[in-house]
Amino acid sequence: MMKIIIVGGGSAGWMTAATLESQFPNYNISLIESKNIKTIGVGESTLQHIQQWMTLLGIKDSDFLKHVDGSYKLSIKFTDFYKKGEYFHYPFGFPEIEKNQASLNDWWFKKFVYPDTLNSDYADCIYPTQMAFINQNKFNPQLRHAYHFDATKFGLWLKNNYCKKTKHILEDIKTIEKNEDGIVSLNKKHKADLYIDCTGFESLLLGKTLEEPFDSYSDMLPNDSAWATKINYKNKKKELVPYTNCTAIENGWVWNIPLWSRIGTGYVYSSKFVDDETALKQFKKFLKKDDIEAHKIKMKVGLHKRLWVKNVVAIGLSAGFIEPLESNGLFTVHEFLMKLIRNLSRGDFSQWDRDNFNYACKRLFKSFAEFVALHYALSHRNDTPYWRHCLNKTWSSDLIDLKQSHIKGFQGAAFDRDVSYHHDPTGGLHCIAAGMNWSPTDIYSLKRVGGYNENNFKDISKNLDNSKKNALINIKKESSILDYLKKIHN
Ligand SMILES: Cc1cc2nc3c(=O)[nH]c(=O)nc-3n(C[C@H](O)[C@H](O)[C@H](O)COP(=O)(O)OP(=O)(O)OC[C@H]3O[C@@H](n4cnc5c(N)ncnc54)[C@H](O)[C@@H]3O)c2cc1C
Repeated sequence: MMKIIIVGGGSAGWMTAATLESQFPNYNISLIESKNIKTIGVGESTLQHIQQWMTLLGIKDSDFLKHVDGSYKLSIKFTDFYKKGEYFHYPFGFPEIEKNQASLNDWWFKKFVYPDTLNSDYADCIYPTQMAFINQNKFNPQLRHAYHFDATKFGLWLKNNYCKKTKHILEDIKTIEKNEDGIVSLNKKHKADLYIDCTGFESLLLGKTLEEPFDSYSDMLPNDSAWATKINYKNKKKELVPYTNCTAIENGWVWNIPLWSRIGTGYVYSSKFVDDETALKQFKKFLKKDDIEAHKIKMKVGLHKRLWVKNVVAIGLSAGFIEPLESNGLFTVHEFLMKLIRNLSRGDFSQWDRDNFNYACKRLFKSFAEFVALHYALSHRNDTPYWRHCLNKTWSSDLIDLKQSHIKGFQGAAFDRDVSYHHDPTGGLHCIAAGMNWSPTDIYSLKRVGGYNENNFKDISKNLDNSKKNALINIKKESSILDYLKKIHN
């Protein structure tokens, strides 16, 4: 029977305990958390992959949403990223191209014959049903969705409902004994076969004690600071939208996450371009509020070289963090946990298991970080030194040479109408690229190979517009997200 000690009682700590307890009921699991060190207190927007983790644990959202101030999320909206005054969505789910007898490239053909088409129209055409709900503030649980919730409350809910066998110890870890095999004891009395470091940015076990080096991603992702606060609804019907809104401002961007009882918001910025006090002023100006109580957060952006070293595994912020533009914090937690339980399922562990876990986590993390960096690389904003830095930076070594080909794969799929390249590992790149006016093909290349056919492209455009119109008609009777949530929360 393996004995595991988790250190840290933030959402990473309790998600780890819940996962291990549910999959390895015979393990002896303890979680030690400090009474004095607070959890990070942010992390309210999730990704749809959380559903798979919930399925594994048998968690139903109807059970927890009302305990965590929860709401539903169908998309991420990016406002003012490409240029001021423009926006686009990256909706969850799959492009509805089969249903519309269309291909992803069709929208670009529409843009070529009607150049005034807004970039935001891409998501409306390619995900007509999902976007019809989003545009009208409606919700139906059949749609691909994730959640907006209070991550601290979610951790506590897991503790009370899914960690009943985990021994909970309130104690500050002050003394750590170690030898060549890793950690020997915590506070001279707690001993385990495996220690899981969930101590947040502190990274007490992996970083501080085992001194595993940290690979900073600050060149690729310069944002390292945030101000976070909570605001009340003024007009809940209008403001409780089923998406996270990210708005680019002077030195970074502001998140807007509508929960059931209030809105979570914060300004993520780079200390290389603005000091904290000026950033707070910019945040207040953006919110049009002077009287907010915001808390300052310093972020360590990057990943430790290895996450599983000797008898220590880091999960959550203690392992690493990408700035939160694509809501990847909790995503990293559950995806790393999936890889950990796969390796632990063999009953014991060896260097093979450590190497396998480290390789898989690093690969996922790095490709996600590169995806986030593309949101800046494709921008054409030039109104502040921060955005001019993005505009003039040489990204080539970081991004253009992506092995998983976020950009190469996208470009490679340019010409053939029958290529459904969303099956390639481009993830959500096509949405971000369309929103930023970066096309997989161009009119000159199409003309050169005789692929430009104006009448055909006009027919294709009509087909796309019809599917948009039909989607709006089909969802007329669906309930608003507010009404849907009232049934859960009241
Ligand atoms: C600005 C910002 C915005 C974010 N937004 C999102 C988002 O929208 N979506 C998302 O998915 N993620 C987001 N994240 C990430 C998310 O907040 C974290 O991934 C998640 O909350 C997990 O945090 P954690 O449990 O690793 O760390 P923490 O919440 O910091 O918990 C650390 C725990 O370790 C304990 N501890 C520390 N030292 C000791 C010690 N010596 N002894 C005992 N216990 C100790 C503390 O008491 C605490 O319980 C965001 C992060 C930041 C910084």
